Amino acid sequence: MADACTLTIAQAHKKLKAKELTATELTQSCIDRIENVDGVLNAVVHKNFDRALEQAKKIDSAGKFDHPLSGIPFLVKDNFCEKDTPSTGCSNILRDKEYLPPFESTSTKRLKSAGAISLGKTNTDEFTMGASTETSCFGVTKNPWDTTRVAGGSSGGSAAGVGSDECIFAVGSDTGGSIRQPAGFCAMVGMRPTYGRTSRFGVMSMASSLDTIGPICKTTEDTALVMNTLAGHDPLDSTTGVIDVPDYSKALTGDVKGLKVGLPKEYFIDGMDPEVEKAVRDSAKQMESMGATIVDISLPHTEYAVATYYVICPSEVSSNMARYDGIRYGHTAKDPEDLVDYYHKVRTEGFGDEVKRRIMIGTYALSAGYYDAFYRQAQKVRTLIVNDFKEAYKSVDVILTPTYPTPAFVVGALDGDPIAMYLQDIFLVAQGLSGMPGITVPCGFCSNNLPIGLHLSGPHWSEELLLKVAHAYEQATEWSEKKPSI
Ligand code: GLN
Repeated sequence: MADACTLTIAQAHKKLKAKELTATELTQSCIDRIENVDGVLNAVVHKNFDRALEQAKKIDSAGKFDHPLSGIPFLVKDNFCEKDTPSTGCSNILRDKEYLPPFESTSTKRLKSAGAISLGKTNTDEFTMGASTETSCFGVTKNPWDTTRVAGGSSGGSAAGVGSDECIFAVGSDTGGSIRQPAGFCAMVGMRPTYGRTSRFGVMSMASSLDTIGPICKTTEDTALVMNTLAGHDPLDSTTGVIDVPDYSKALTGDVKGLKVGLPKEYFIDGMDPEVEKAVRDSAKQMESMGATIVDISLPHTEYAVATYYVICPSEVSSNMARYDGIRYGHTAKDPEDLVDYYHKVRTEGFGDEVKRRIMIGTYALSAGYYDAFYRQAQKVRTLIVNDFKEAYKSVDVILTPTYPTPAFVVGALDGDPIAMYLQDIFLVAQGLSGMPGITVPCGFCSNNLPIGLHLSGPHWSEELLLKVAHAYEQATEWSEKKPSI
């Protein structure tokens, strides 16, 4: 089955179980697809094809496909550590000496234990800092819907990989939008779970109070299946909640009757693409026709979200990046004059501009003289933003917004203007700050055939509800069935 790579997890699982398809055929189909299209897309930065095929054979000879992920090939963002596998965060500081982690991230371990097959690592902005995968040391990932455009970021490789059928699903990380924005740009479903719902053990930290990991899939049904495996307490990550994991698949009832869906007025702003706005408003009408009630709401501190995020995130970045000194692993400097010169050289040569920028901003915001004015102030505003959401969820069940103010932009369009890039994160960073979950599903296409994403957010631990609403919408529309022509 040459086109097996186009299947969803649920479809592939059925065929594997019925012995109409083998894991080897499915894996080979994804590998062929990567070989055919990745020269253009640049979504995959490390290929583990031999290992993947070996594993597929083992799974085939065991012949058991009891777990829905058994025999299903996936790609994983390059900030996840896979044991003895190049893991670089797409940064020269780790790429240079090909860092091979001596341990496995909990997420990849859980997926592999379920029988899922890792095909390789996907491109990301350097240490996940960005919204376009343009800051990667491996170069930019292109959007399968239009290869002059970005796939989004930072999980651009994961979104483009699933979106172009190079794999059946992928995993990514989301600090302030990095799963949801690229998923939206590539017409995929992307879920950022509640902070603490999924383990970050073995994932390179960017901003520790914001980072989460989650799936990028072709459908909400698949998203529920991957969440069933990823979610849950991990003794190796003390920030994971000791809270039972429901069967997310059971939440997919197709029913939104009686649900209250909030539309925050602050998320429909001047300057947003009119086609995006129309598609999102239409999706609200669609939900109304399915029995939901649309309620106008306000999240009054929205305008401070980007500024708050871009103080807290770089502050935590500046602390997390301190571990890359080239002494224990990674890039080392040649012929340093002294220790200070050594650090200077390692970090000058190893880090790209965006990482350096955030280290500088963060170090400044955390320094004794400015801590109160910037970092502490940002933490206070963060509380106000959390309170906005808590207040809103007293009157609505979920909040419906656009995923991004525009469709995927042209490669290089915002590259030289970091502030313009930061401002575009306006609809996504608040979930990072609040620790609340969000999901994006396709809700239309612009006249130039670029995907538009609809974003649903809910209170802490509301993944079931979000999946239920996203699924009901997806079932009622045909957006998820479209494929790019690449
Ligand atoms: N675009 C945001 C940033 O650059 C989000 C990144 C992320 O979620 N990793 O910080």
